[in-house]
Amino acid sequence: MIGEEALPRLKEINSKYQMFRAMTDDKDIGDSKFLFSAKDNLTSMDMETCSGSKILEGYHPVFDATPIANMRKAGGKLIGKTNMDEFGFGTFSTNSAFGIPRNPFDTNRSCGGSSGGSACAAAVIEDHVSIGVSTGGSVACPASFCGTYGIVPTYGRVSRYGLIDYGNSLDKPGLLSVDPKKLREYLPVISGKDPHDATSMCQPDLDLNSDRIKSVAVPKQALEGVSDDVTKAFNDALEILKGSGIDIEYVDMPELKYAMPAYYILATSEASTNLARYVGMRYGRQDGDMSKRFDDYFTEVRTGGFGVEAKRRILLGTYTRMEGFRDRYYAKALQVRLGVIEAYKKVFANHDAVLTPTMPFTSPKFSDIDKMTPVQNYQADFLTVPTNLSGTPHLNCPCGYDADGMPVGMQFVTDHWKENLLVNMAEDWDRMFEVRRAEVSL
Ligand code: GLN
Repeated sequence: MIGEEALPRLKEINSKYQMFRAMTDDKDIGDSKFLFSAKDNLTSMDMETCSGSKILEGYHPVFDATPIANMRKAGGKLIGKTNMDEFGFGTFSTNSAFGIPRNPFDTNRSCGGSSGGSACAAAVIEDHVSIGVSTGGSVACPASFCGTYGIVPTYGRVSRYGLIDYGNSLDKPGLLSVDPKKLREYLPVISGKDPHDATSMCQPDLDLNSDRIKSVAVPKQALEGVSDDVTKAFNDALEILKGSGIDIEYVDMPELKYAMPAYYILATSEASTNLARYVGMRYGRQDGDMSKRFDDYFTEVRTGGFGVEAKRRILLGTYTRMEGFRDRYYAKALQVRLGVIEAYKKVFANHDAVLTPTMPFTSPKFSDIDKMTPVQNYQADFLTVPTNLSGTPHLNCPCGYDADGMPVGMQFVTDHWKENLLVNMAEDWDRMFEVRRAEVSL
């Protein structure tokens, strides 16, 4: 589906793949130069913004999130807000209150999460770029499951102004596309200092021209618990990289093992405070019984508005911050986070990048996801959370296909502010490996 040709058929495409929560009604591109979509946790003036949650239904933001504003300034037309796990809480986009995006390679399978709708749009619509957001892997995971490139720049490279917070110390907007050139083209557009977000103000210039990855470290710990299909595709990809002259060395990074529990403590701690603002007063739904006492009113709105996973995370995150428990959980997790950052820094003293599979398995069927416990869900993120805890930039490249033809992804991580290495890697890899496109039929 050519980008522009997709416009008149957007509703039809969406009824099959459910990538959009909201869509433009426009049938042509008008004066715009290109089309893009954005995850529904980025505010947009012309489209309702719900962050995948019923509690925000009816929220029409009065300003654009900076990455969206910057894309529009560059001539982009926002064609849709993409379906996602509620507030970003998930790995399969099945925790969405609206639509659950369908994998373009097999509609019985997940697009990954939480930016599943963005990956789906990137895979289905030709010539498309979508803005996703990663807190713990939500760009790399769906990119891996849908066979697209996905880049997340360093924490602070892209402003979070207008981003509906999940975990403020972790949230990072990024880009997904099947065309690696789009990463080079649009990363500078969404990046840059923004006085509305202080964490964006100390970044060095983004220069995407220089430098290539010459040596790669593969942590041995990252290959444990990975499915045979993924291991095979990953090992084949290592051979291709070696053949291109890149040095590959296996290293020990035992700290990676602790990243997943630490991430879920920190992310839920931050999430539980962020969600306190949704009480049916300022944003979204205000349909509770106002004659009730205010705490009964809040309880009614929050009980009806939040999904199961959001409630679980409020409980978990409130517990880990409670007096008497916070030293044991929250403070400990912060120490682990430092340990993970130091582990990466040690590797980056000798190597340009850390390389692992992105996900331990290929996209599961919805029927199998239903059987997973919350802990099994969280464990699926063990390869993507370490880089997100450390705020380092990372890239998913499609690197193979399993026996059912489902995509496998590998994830490059580089040192802070070295997005240039990743953008060059994506383009080089695209020449070395034949990326398959999903066959899209309506
Ligand atoms: N799957 C992870 C979580 O549920 C990461 C999600 C994200 O990056 N938003 O927290």
